[in-house]
Amino acid sequence: MSWWDLGEWTGFPGHELATYMVVCAFCGEKGNFEITQHLERKKPGGESKKLNYDTLKCGHCGNYMFAFWSADAMGIGGRGMHDFKLLPWHRSTTDHPKHWPSDVGNYWVEARRSIEGKNWTAAALMARSAVQLVARAHGATGNNLKEEIDDLAAKGLILPSMKEFAHEVRVLANEGTHPQPGTKGTSEKDANDVVEFLSFLMTVMYNLPEQIKVYRKRKG
Ligand SMILES: [Zn+2]
Repeated sequence: MSWWDLGEWTGFPGHELATYMVVCAFCGEKGNFEITQHLERKKPGGESKKLNYDTLKCGHCGNYMFAFWSADAMGIGGRGMHDFKLLPWHRSTTDHPKHWPSDVGNYWVEARRSIEGKNWTAAALMARSAVQLVARAHGATGNNLKEEIDDLAAKGLILPSMKEFAHEVRVLANEGTHPQPGTKGTSEKDANDVVEFLSFLMTVMYNLPEQIKVYRKRKG
C-alpha cells in the first residue's frame, strides 16, 4: 500500500470530499466548512488518480483543518468513492459507522467516549453490554457471556483466536457485572481490553461483510 491507494478500497461515497462527515477538531461542529485552499497532484504516468490537499475553515469557530484526500481512479466522473485523512482530528467519538446496527453502535459510542473521559468502569460496562448485544443478535446461546462468545466461535462466526482473546479479557471472562460492596471498579487496562475486543468484533461482524458488499458492487 502507498498513499496513492488512498480511497481505492475503503471510504465514503462519491468523488467529492465528504465535508458533511468532517467534525471540527476545535469546536465539534459537523459539516460546516469552507475550502479556502485546494492543491492537487496527478499520479505520474497519465492515470486518472490524483491526491488532493485542501484547507478547511470551520464556519462555526473559524479554525483551520487540513484534509488530505483522494477519489478512486475509476471514480473520476461521478461514480465510486473517496477517502480522507484530517489534521488535526476531532478527539472525541461522536458517531458510529452507518452500516452498524444502531443499538450496538450507540453502546460502542458510549464505551469509546467513556474511555476518552477515563471513566474505566463505565467504558467496561458499555463494551460488555455491546458484546452481549452482538452475540444475541447472532443467535448465540449460553448461561453467561463467556459461553455466548464460545457459541459464536462454535457457529464459525468468530475466529478461534478471537475466542481465546475473549478468555484473556477479564471483563468478558468474569461472571460478575453485579457490583459488590467495596468494589474498586474496573482498571484502565481491563477497560481498554474489552473495548479493544468490541472493536475487533465489530470489524469481523459488520465491517468485513460491508466491505465485501461494496467490493462486489464495484466489480459488478
Ligand atoms: Zn469549529
